Amino acid sequence: MTSRDTTGHNAGGVGSVESWLISAGRDRRPGSPLNVPPCPASNFVLGERRAYSRDDATPGWEALEEIVGGLEGGSSVSFASGMAGIAAIFDQLSTGAVVALPDDCYQGVAGLAKAGQSRGRWTVHRLAVDDTPSWVKMCSMADLIWLESPSNPLLTVADLDAICAAPRKHGAIVGVDNTFATPLNQRPLALGADVAVQSVTKFIGGHSDLLGGVVTVRDANLLAALRQARELAGATPGTLEAFLAVRGARTLAVRLERAQHNAMILAERLASHPKVTLTRYPGLKSHRTHAAAQRQLRGFGTVISFDVRGDALGADAVCTGLQLIQHATSLGAVESTIERRASVPGQEHLPPTLLRLSVGIEAVEDLWADLDRALRSVPQA
Ligand code: PLP
Repeated sequence: MTSRDTTGHNAGGVGSVESWLISAGRDRRPGSPLNVPPCPASNFVLGERRAYSRDDATPGWEALEEIVGGLEGGSSVSFASGMAGIAAIFDQLSTGAVVALPDDCYQGVAGLAKAGQSRGRWTVHRLAVDDTPSWVKMCSMADLIWLESPSNPLLTVADLDAICAAPRKHGAIVGVDNTFATPLNQRPLALGADVAVQSVTKFIGGHSDLLGGVVTVRDANLLAALRQARELAGATPGTLEAFLAVRGARTLAVRLERAQHNAMILAERLASHPKVTLTRYPGLKSHRTHAAAQRQLRGFGTVISFDVRGDALGADAVCTGLQLIQHATSLGAVESTIERRASVPGQEHLPPTLLRLSVGIEAVEDLWADLDRALRSVPQA
């Protein structure tokens, strides 16, 4: 990972993004705690800025918003979860709006879009992540252009450069779920997107111990509208979660560097494993959107999706046969996790033997030994 960011993030004059991660969001007044402590308060003595915690950010949220805002290059609003932030964005749409959504994306977002459509709130058009001409065309027709890149779980990389630069319908919002890339690998706002979303639950938190979300925007009106949506829905982050998210964010750069290094090695070995029929990882030359990944991402991320030879039962056996890698959902944490995605409600359309592996920071040879042993123990199909 290169140290100096050249895409214009506002790292507050501290130099590199890695240094920003360590220094941002601290109270520098003499006598202040070095880390903003959790502030378990619903209400505050009146007369100052803060009155009630659902309306006025508690100190921990502000630290998180400052850090993620600096990374993404905009102003941030923190939420109780990634989905709470995404729902607040969808909530900005007027009745009858047109939404463009990737054919491969987090199933929660697909579910949210579908539920809104079935209640007559908006119409949804699903587009292939890498069908750039269709996305460009949709930009002049849709009110919300929702992108996720790399996509979950097929890891297809969208041509954000072209889509974010395309002429838009007046008032349209281009939003990018930047969770898989993290703002260290990709900065959608610098490319022209209006909104960048992080499920803080994943890489920023990094330890599978919290739910959180941060939405970052460039426009002051949209920022105010999202703050209001958070307040009205009560979708505020917990103070302990905000504290943990800030603590996790401090080590994001080192965790990502190590996990990405591991992921590249594992992806290359999986790609030639006799029990694996297809390996998807943006860093592999064979990956469908490798060229876009090379152009757009500073690092290829830590998630690999691969298809096990045989059937779903065999793929399940790989998951349960692992000893070091955790059989668990979610991603972006220090520990490696694996899941057969078609077993998740709403993901039945995926290849039945597709395993999504989120690579952690364990020793790579230990991870490989675990994977190889579990794969080889699956009976030959
Ligand atoms: N976006 C992506 C890409 C995700 O993978 C997830 C959760 O898995 C979310 C958003 C939702 O985040 P949260 O679980 O924090 O609501």
